[in-house]
Amino acid sequence: MENIYLDHAAWLPVDTRVLKFAEGFLKNGVGNASALYSFGLAGKKVIEEAREKVAKLINAESENCIVFTSGATESNNLAIKGTALRNIKKGKKLKASSIEHISVLNPMKELQKNGYEFNTISVDSTGILNLDELERSLTKETVVTSVMYANNEIGTIEPIREISEIVHKKGGYLHVDATAAAGRIPIDVQNDRIDLLTLSSNDIYGPQGTGALYIKKGVKLQSVLPGGGQERGLRSGTENLFGIAGMGEAARIAKNEIAQESERLGKIRDKLIIEILRIDESFLTGHPTQRLPHHASFRFSRIEGESILLNMDMYNIQVSTGSACSSKTLEPSHVLLAIGLKHEEAHGSMVLTLGHSNSIEQIPKITKAVKETVERLRGLSPL
Ligand code: PMP
Repeated sequence: MENIYLDHAAWLPVDTRVLKFAEGFLKNGVGNASALYSFGLAGKKVIEEAREKVAKLINAESENCIVFTSGATESNNLAIKGTALRNIKKGKKLKASSIEHISVLNPMKELQKNGYEFNTISVDSTGILNLDELERSLTKETVVTSVMYANNEIGTIEPIREISEIVHKKGGYLHVDATAAAGRIPIDVQNDRIDLLTLSSNDIYGPQGTGALYIKKGVKLQSVLPGGGQERGLRSGTENLFGIAGMGEAARIAKNEIAQESERLGKIRDKLIIEILRIDESFLTGHPTQRLPHHASFRFSRIEGESILLNMDMYNIQVSTGSACSSKTLEPSHVLLAIGLKHEEAHGSMVLTLGHSNSIEQIPKITKAVKETVERLRGLSPL
């Protein structure tokens, strides 16, 4: 039976073109990029080329604004803790949207334990940040505000340009987690006036275990990983050449293909939404139009997301029930609660995220499996 993978917000297969480009750096190596012999200098060149490609994906003013990390979690930690600790004289207040990923919320909570003040800003029922509340809550002491470019669980795209204007009016720094959005929709850090932006390699079809942080020229950070001083002293540790070279190539490919691929996936997403919403008591979560082109998220009354996931797997279709990162707990997603769902409503969620391997021809099979799954589970439900 054909397998249909629909969980591209959690993991992506590395693009074969990326693998081909980068595998030599894993197999043969090019030396430690900090070494001065020619072998090492070749490694440095690989990193600098990758930096340029990543900078181009987000229209950074210079490749020197990119620091490579081990992934989105580390980039979020570096952005938040690094900026807060280095700019302590500016103030000790932190803000984040209530639907941020835990790798944004937890570093802020950690700082809160160490004397910083941290509050979340609410979102409306579609996941859009409450801009009036943001404006009211910021003060001159707010050093870092973090709002994601788009949400991984409900697909909503935030009005980042407007948010950055509000944040900058009060003189603070804006950090944007673009893990879910990068490679899916165009991002222009200069136009949006973003100070810090998180990127993940695997989320753009690059190797896992690599990420990047864009740091606007002039924004000062303290390292959260001191050591040998690699990556401008901000991220010590011998560079992961395979991961970095792969992420660079993935960024180059994404930049070239973003328009065409998002149009293709957008059509599949729209059709999936129409078909799935034909099911009784099914609802779209997130924004109806301001949403990622590859993202369709739903909730069904009277059933559990975990049972949906397991039932869909029997059809060889992999879906998600929300955040893969916290699926170890059976607590309802904080994102779904933040958009105003009750606990029992938040439990019945299903998230479909599309990628290269999906096609319009798969829609009948997917919608049939969802319909049968929902009917079967409702038949068993005591609710
Ligand atoms: N931010 C967002 C929006 C995410 O969806 C994720 C998980 N894919 C992360 C951060 C953390 O990514 P990682 O676990 O790869 O560090």
